[in-house]
Amino acid sequence: MRLVVDLNRCQGFAQCVFLAPDVFSLHGNEALLFTPRFDEAQRERVEQAAAACPVQAILVDWSDEPTKGVEAHVG
Ligand code: SF4
Repeated sequence: MRLVVDLNRCQGFAQCVFLAPDVFSLHGNEALLFTPRFDEAQRERVEQAAAACPVQAILVDWSDEPTKGVEAHVG
């Protein structure tokens, strides 16, 4: 599972830091640091953080995990 934050969008509201402090941290006024790779234990928090970001700057890539619960319509 990977995570990208669009730092051009990020306004440093720190909602993500509050919700997933193991993954996001804020240094200074607006310098957001984040851990691009996270594990299953962080999943729920990262989802909450992504949902809570007021500018939708947090993008989560689930592509490297099995597609459970996702219907594939091929053909
Ligand atoms: S919640 Fe969004 S805008 Fe706020 S610090 Fe996190 S990524 Fe940036």
